Amino acid sequence: MAQFLEIKAANPGCLLFYRMGDFYELFFDDAVAAAEALGIVLTKRGKHLGADIPMCGVPIHRADEYLRRLISGGFRVAVCEQLEDPAEARKRGSKAVVRRDVVRLVTPGTLTEDGLLDAKAPNYLTAMFRVPKGREGGAIALASLDISTGEFEVGEVAAADFAGEIVRLAPGEVIAADTLLADADIAKWIGSGGRAATPVPAAYFDSLSGERQLKAQLEVADLAAFGAFSRSELAAIGALLKYVELTQIGRKTCLRPPRRSGPSAQLIIDAPTRASLELVRSTSGDSKSSLLAAIDRTVTGPGARELASRLGSPLRDVRAIGARLDAVGFLRENETLREDVRRALRHTPDLARAMARLALHRGSPRDLAAVRDGLTAAQASAQLLRGASGSMGLPEALAQIAERLAGCDAALQPLLSRALVDDPPHLRRDGGFVRQGYGADLDATRALRDDSRKVMAALEAKYQLETGIKALKVRHNNILGYYLEVPAGASKPMLAPPLADAFRHRQTMAGAVRFTTQELAETEGRIVSAAERALAMEQEIFAELASAIAAEQRALGEVAAALAAIDCEAALAEVAAQEGYTRPVLDDSTTFEIRGGRHPVVEQALRAASAAAFIENDCVLVGSRPEPCQSPDGMRPARLWLVTGPNMAGKSTFLRQNALITVMAQMGSFVPARSAHIGIVDRLFSRVGAADDLARGRSTFMVEMVETAGILNQATERSLVILDEIGRGTATFDGLAIAWAVVEYLHEASKCRALFATHYHELTALAGRLPEVANVTMEVREWKDEIVFLHKVKGGGADRSYGIQVAKLAGLPKPVTKRAGEVLTLLEKSDSKATDGAALIEELPLFAARPASPALPEPAPSPVGEALAALNPDDLTPKAALEALYKLKELAAKTRD
Ligand code: ADP
Ligand code: MG
Repeated sequence: MAQFLEIKAANPGCLLFYRMGDFYELFFDDAVAAAEALGIVLTKRGKHLGADIPMCGVPIHRADEYLRRLISGGFRVAVCEQLEDPAEARKRGSKAVVRRDVVRLVTPGTLTEDGLLDAKAPNYLTAMFRVPKGREGGAIALASLDISTGEFEVGEVAAADFAGEIVRLAPGEVIAADTLLADADIAKWIGSGGRAATPVPAAYFDSLSGERQLKAQLEVADLAAFGAFSRSELAAIGALLKYVELTQIGRKTCLRPPRRSGPSAQLIIDAPTRASLELVRSTSGDSKSSLLAAIDRTVTGPGARELASRLGSPLRDVRAIGARLDAVGFLRENETLREDVRRALRHTPDLARAMARLALHRGSPRDLAAVRDGLTAAQASAQLLRGASGSMGLPEALAQIAERLAGCDAALQPLLSRALVDDPPHLRRDGGFVRQGYGADLDATRALRDDSRKVMAALEAKYQLETGIKALKVRHNNILGYYLEVPAGASKPMLAPPLADAFRHRQTMAGAVRFTTQELAETEGRIVSAAERALAMEQEIFAELASAIAAEQRALGEVAAALAAIDCEAALAEVAAQEGYTRPVLDDSTTFEIRGGRHPVVEQALRAASAAAFIENDCVLVGSRPEPCQSPDGMRPARLWLVTGPNMAGKSTFLRQNALITVMAQMGSFVPARSAHIGIVDRLFSRVGAADDLARGRSTFMVEMVETAGILNQATERSLVILDEIGRGTATFDGLAIAWAVVEYLHEASKCRALFATHYHELTALAGRLPEVANVTMEVREWKDEIVFLHKVKGGGADRSYGIQVAKLAGLPKPVTKRAGEVLTLLEKSDSKATDGAALIEELPLFAARPASPALPEPAPSPVGEALAALNPDDLTPKAALEALYKLKELAAKTRD
């Protein structure tokens, strides 16, 4: 108990998993909390200060599962192990306590077990540090490490871009000084994803120690090779590495060379835009109908993580994007290569995560095998790539991948193959993972363990030969152990020299004499301890293999990253081929010309539902100078397109598809369009009016305006802005006025490329006044007072909103839509004279107060009227027309009766 209390006191704020044999036991308040969170039995064990000690326990073989539940329940867990064998402790005395200590703190941001992690998503631990006297509006330095893979990213963001960065990184845990965590603007975004926020002392953010630790971890004397780090970044790195050291109790993690994240290299996408475009999860929270789900054809977890990372941070550099597109294009053309590579990668284990566990001394034999199999797949893929490089050679990106795939010491894979069984067990401590034939000693020891009978038979034969006594036998009983038995009559030579020197007499029985030899006693000892020794030898071999892997850690990190990259490129090629995507043209112009564009997610959804095919649409925005050219369909290229059309016509789909095509193009993917020419976009904004945000306690209209303000303040001439029904959340005239002013501002001040969808058809007048605004509309057909959506964008504006027709489609009761029609007519008639909305409403006769209300209920339709409505004079031959006339008269006569 003294040991427990001491360890418990040293690890405040954590549940203590206290190892006792095959269980982790929890005591006192920990036990109460864990029993409730896990729904396991709370018992008691012994007494402390006269009171019962509450206790519960989890078996070690199910510890991962319980850990996962505790961590997601917001707990932190300190894992305390036995550091010696109980037998060793007994040697110190019968009362000696087994040495124990905490080997690891488990927190949401420091997980390494597959059972606790999502294979397809990274799990970052992010340290945040406010840049002192930073840029205008403030800046924050972020350092993020996924200790399950060693993925490491560092950068500074302006405070205004912080939310977008946090949503992109989606860290499992954030650490910061509590002053920063107390900032409401920061806390709001950290808390929103259920992320853990752990306050750490401000002293952790020490840039000098950060620099020192980083150099030590990367084993370099100078950081210049990784780019320049600001003092604030180093401070964040310092806290990050310190926290890792504390939670991993000094064990060294894998650390890949830091990736620089920063506004200059990336297409910046803020948090609401990420949500509204449903990049990695849909607004309802699942990941099924996201862009990521629609284009993810990767075959490994690391490949999926790489794809998600590219999707989360598209690039801005034309050359870098071009290099990725070259790779995707090459794999798209070379179908056999693509299929072969994907086959080689399928079922390849997660090399990065296996290595990270090995580095932290919590690897299993399976992790060793994962390195072996990862290297096998890497060699196979490298060979495939090299074999496919024709006269033109491989595209640069693929050539680099091939090189990195083959960058590890060539002896490692054969070593692991020789040493490990094909399918090793999960637990290291039980042994059984070293292959037969790898070590002569181990084989002999195992033979002894498994074949004691055979070994003894061999000894028996040997002694028979030496003594010339055929009847000599090796026997075993519980008192003597192994011994030799010779019939009494034949024993004489053995009792005299020279044989008596080697064969010591032990017992004389009625008809037999028993002997032993030194060799027999030793062999017996060896058999008894063989099992233990075989196990110990395997542990030693494990350690040797793990250190061989550790020696190649840097190169293996590159192999793992290259495997992820090739899976990602091949997957993008696969989706391009399957879905008929084309290679976008990117340059530094401000053009945005999409021909025959489609929405990648809606397109697949429509196909899955075997509904009507998706209708492709053009979008031509020109940044600088509107060209005089006019598309055949009357769509005028302009910097800002005002998209009008009734609800359900396809406006939102059209807007988003153009934003998604931009994201895809700049991440280095082919795009769903017949052709796409995009001048690099620096920031992408997308807002949908009146998005409900009750969870964050702000009115929808307030949210809409806050977000619109964000856009107007940040959009540059290089940005692409998508505004969908902004101004919907307030009264009509307010909303119209705001929408009007926003369009003007985008046109005059931001000068960005923009798509603005609105059901205020009144806004179309703006196109006449602002030279770089053009009207387009979603084509609809009216047919018998109903509307049909063609989902086709064409030039011009909608003349009206068709709200009542849509309401009809939606199944609003007939009296309501009919009455709405009457009100609308009245409103439209008096629109010109009425300046005062209130007065107009006053004038409207009330629904119920109308003189006689024959519309309620609907009168029975007249048969004549119905028959008339069914006729289409254009379709009738003269003869049919005459017949119809007779029929109508007849009907009329009948009705009168
Ligand atoms: P709006 O924003 O104008 O109200 P939406 O963009 O939400 O309309 O589209 C409504 C529905 O119409 C979508 O859910 C989709 O099923 C269908 N749709 C939209 N655009 C197309 C298209 N180009 N081709 C086929 N169906 C489409
Ligand atoms: Mg819409």
